[in-house]
Amino acid sequence: RRGASLTDFAEKIGADAASLVQVMFHLGEMVTATQSVTDETLQLLGAELEYDIQVVSPEDEDRELLESFSIEFGEDEGEDSELLPRPPVVSVMGHVDHGKTKLLDAIRNEDVVAGEAGGITQHIGAYQVQTEVDGTERKITFIDTPGHEAFTAMRARGARSTDIAVLVVAADDGVMPQTIEALNHAKAAGVPVVVAVNKIDVPDADPAKVRGQLTEYGLVPEEYGGDTMFVDISAKARINIEGLLEAIILTADASLDLRANPHQDAEGLAIEAHLDKGRGPVVTVLVQRGTLRVGDSIIAGPAYGRVRAMFDENGQQVDEAPPARPVLALGLSAVPRAGDNFMVVADDRMARQIAERREAAVRNASFARITKRVSLDDLSKL
Ligand code: GDP
Ligand code: MG
Repeated sequence: RRGASLTDFAEKIGADAASLVQVMFHLGEMVTATQSVTDETLQLLGAELEYDIQVVSPEDEDRELLESFSIEFGEDEGEDSELLPRPPVVSVMGHVDHGKTKLLDAIRNEDVVAGEAGGITQHIGAYQVQTEVDGTERKITFIDTPGHEAFTAMRARGARSTDIAVLVVAADDGVMPQTIEALNHAKAAGVPVVVAVNKIDVPDADPAKVRGQLTEYGLVPEEYGGDTMFVDISAKARINIEGLLEAIILTADASLDLRANPHQDAEGLAIEAHLDKGRGPVVTVLVQRGTLRVGDSIIAGPAYGRVRAMFDENGQQVDEAPPARPVLALGLSAVPRAGDNFMVVADDRMARQIAERREAAVRNASFARITKRVSLDDLSKL
């Protein structure tokens, strides 16, 4: 258990914390009762006292909690034949000022569906567009939380949000430190990359140079015999946005088998959330499998509730959200964090119980962090 103290441990085994401090002292480690200790220290203490210590990560702990309610998160249920194709979910990454925001705006504006709805588009942290590839209508979901902080935050918490990363590189600036950082994140997450070589409208744009630079980092363009698609675009002048969307679909088709069961209880991720004065907690969820419906009882991290209403990125009210669809949902008890998973549960009572136990787990974790900080302060006073 991460962040636990000897007091926590003492409580668990029904011992006295002060004597555990003494045992540790004899083993050659000076720790206070409330200080949070390393996993190794707990193992050492456990071995001495002949306890079998299992270190459980917060993710494992949460999985166990869900299992105790017979809930499995992250698995498509049913037969293979029940899994149907779903749109790819895409994150846009890259160096600051290389045009991520401009590109996300351009893609949105390209979308026929948004144009037809004629409504006021609203930023909900993700949106879906439709594009035509080889005469077929295809959908793509974009996560448009600013920068890649959300992506990294979500990944750090073990959440898989993205199928494909679009790496934006300005053709006049070339590969920069955050380009590599973004690339490394994508590699670590194991997601394929499509390179958008942006700002080709600028006179000193050098798209060939970008290709050469990224080849050194293992992203070899298709035209050089590699398997990464590079697309020259201008987000500002709206050049070849269609080509980029097509490259995303082709990459998804070539290297990913994106399928989900739409006929099960919905599960997915909270992408963005805030507290609205009038509407209460407002959360954008990305449905990853199943279909979310108005009236469903859900839990999202430490929040729970019944979905009261859902809206798409065009402000249109929707009754259901299938796999890969982001929607803004109302009706939760609290504001979840980006990357918290959400899922439909059998009833309100179960939703409440799970949420309460999660809240307690979060409280314990932050308590452990606080005690650690205090004890470090104490040390510096000596
Ligand atoms: P971000 O930091 O990656 O989100 O970059 P922005 O989208 O905010 O763009 C940074 C600057 O580059 C802005 O002034 C944009 O207008 C400009 N910009 C973005 N894309 C293009 C492009 O294709 N051509 C040109 N000339 N400027 C662009
Ligand atoms: Mg930006």
